[in-house]
Amino acid sequence: MTTNIRYCQRCIMPETKPDLYIDDNGVCNACRQIELRPRVDWQARENELLEILKRYRNRQGGNYDCIVPVSGGKDSHFQVLRMLELGMNPLCITATTDKLSEIGRYNIENLKKCGVDYIEVTPNPVLRKRLNRLALTQVGDISWSEHVAIFTVPVRMAVQLGVPLIIWGENSQNEYGGPAAAANSNTLTRRWLEEFGGLLGLRVSDLTDAEGIEPKHLIQYTYPSDEQLQSAGITGLFLGYYLPWDGYQNALYAQAHGFRTYPQTIEGSLVNYENLDNCQTGIHDYFKFLKYGFGRATDLACMHIRRERISREHALKVVKLHDGKFPWSYLGCSLQEILADIEMTTEEFNRICDRFTNKKLFVCDSSGHLVKDARGNLTKINYDNVSCDHVKQPMVVGA
Ligand SMILES: [Zn+2]
Repeated sequence: MTTNIRYCQRCIMPETKPDLYIDDNGVCNACRQIELRPRVDWQARENELLEILKRYRNRQGGNYDCIVPVSGGKDSHFQVLRMLELGMNPLCITATTDKLSEIGRYNIENLKKCGVDYIEVTPNPVLRKRLNRLALTQVGDISWSEHVAIFTVPVRMAVQLGVPLIIWGENSQNEYGGPAAAANSNTLTRRWLEEFGGLLGLRVSDLTDAEGIEPKHLIQYTYPSDEQLQSAGITGLFLGYYLPWDGYQNALYAQAHGFRTYPQTIEGSLVNYENLDNCQTGIHDYFKFLKYGFGRATDLACMHIRRERISREHALKVVKLHDGKFPWSYLGCSLQEILADIEMTTEEFNRICDRFTNKKLFVCDSSGHLVKDARGNLTKINYDNVSCDHVKQPMVVGA
């Protein structure tokens, strides 16, 4: 007997999402978090932010007021523009992504034109490809090293340059649903990073000795020690705690300042304005679908449902069209080209996909093998809640 996937009755997030909790009324913690928003005294929070910024502003102008970690995306633009509007002198820092797209490079250059100093730190790209391969094979996440570096690189720079204030964007636990304590938090700490930063139980220290990787290769992936953080007085704030955060509004704001979007809906997504920089993102999102039964399209649909920009009913339809499709290409870059970079064949990739697929979530044949259509797409056992009395099970037809 198969157990159906249970979904939040308000958005369409499945309970298989790590750290998502659906309450007795069938509503998930991310939807509950949004309910609280109108009750937040945003003016008080903004005042709190202004106080903090005032404290950290460098009066002599001898150093930067804060560090803003940026990828060049819509949220980066929003963070940087807001800091400039609030009279701050930020230093922008990018940890170079895995496989930077043309549009990603364009947007980084555009961000600099907002009028900021900018440093790009590029961890060794030869080693990075090895890490990508290793992490995809071992934990089913090609983006593991990127997700480590985007947190470690800016913090390392903050320590080295003596700029204690780091302005992060949103708290992903807040928007996407996570433990309440983490969602209410306004600071990014080592503990937050280890629990929610996407490390999947694989620690940087686990990598040494793996495929000839030595500690000297992992400098940029190493978080500063507690002593270093303390003596430099490092504080990382989530801007999304102080200002009402909305990715779509950030995109509109960024576009008004020259940020470029993709000409069509991005593969596996519902929109054209985010995750434009790394061609490996399609693989990353696909593995999320294989492991947990939801992809980027579900994330986006849920955000738009919560903000009443799309109905739950319409969201279900469009998500079924786009979510979790086999990642033949991303931002127009072919899967073969992306895999060639990490010295992997499509056959090997398919084997890894199957190994990380949670077979309980997808239709299998009588011998327990995953059923795939001609394009390699899987079918979920159910795409919405199934009523307890089994009146009508939503029938699933191959795409
Ligand atoms: Zn929900």
